[in-house]
Amino acid sequence: MDKSLRKAVIAGNWKMNKTPDEAKAIINEMKPLVADADCDVVLCVPYIDIFAAQEAAAGSNIKIGAENCHWAESGAFTGEVSAPMLKAIGVEYVIIGHSERRQYFGETDETVNKRVRAALDSGLTVILCVGELLDERKKGVTMEVVRSQTKIALQGVSNEELDKIIIAYEPVWAIGTGETATAEQANEVNHAIREVLGEIYCPKCASRVTIQYGGSMNAKNAAELLAQEDVDGGLIGGASLKAEDFSVIVKAASI
Ligand code: PEP
Repeated sequence: MDKSLRKAVIAGNWKMNKTPDEAKAIINEMKPLVADADCDVVLCVPYIDIFAAQEAAAGSNIKIGAENCHWAESGAFTGEVSAPMLKAIGVEYVIIGHSERRQYFGETDETVNKRVRAALDSGLTVILCVGELLDERKKGVTMEVVRSQTKIALQGVSNEELDKIIIAYEPVWAIGTGETATAEQANEVNHAIREVLGEIYCPKCASRVTIQYGGSMNAKNAAELLAQEDVDGGLIGGASLKAEDFSVIVKAASI
């Protein structure tokens, strides 16, 4: 599969960090550091930071995304934000199915699928997270878990809509733990995800989908992970909160 068929995407996931003023400050610090990137650069930020982040990123190559969206257009869902709401304020990307949402907020493959559908219907680009638990890796069922998560999340998504899907393979045991999958492990699972996409759609369609790795990617390990044939970028948590570290990852993806 030819890596040059797809553009690398480095996306930050700020999780529940940064006030609007802090968001502006770090984006202003990041802008000159990532200006020459030969990859897409996205920051997915808490809802309340979106306006400040957009203002700070205006005129730069940094795009702003959200960390989730609800499947309904509107209604009695206290505390939730819908895909049309995000679209209305100029958001371009949204993370769906992050393992922290699955673990702490009861999201299932089915609700992930509904959120993916809603995001696509609003014209957002989805960063769809899949990945196995440590126990699942130990039991040797990583591929089954990731295949099934991918298949269910993409039910009802057409071939044409695949252009708006980025998949992030994020082994749950590697998120925020400092423990990273080896480059070989990341590539092996990303390759398997591409094979599933080939089965659902077609091998040529699959070869165009950006598949990121996420899980304690940092300034030190990024180059090796990103050099893998099937690793087309990264979803970065902790290291996206540090301008210098994030820019090193962006540079590693730009080679
Ligand atoms: C994430 O939140 O998606 C993530 C990969 O976090 P970290 O880089 O901190 O492991």
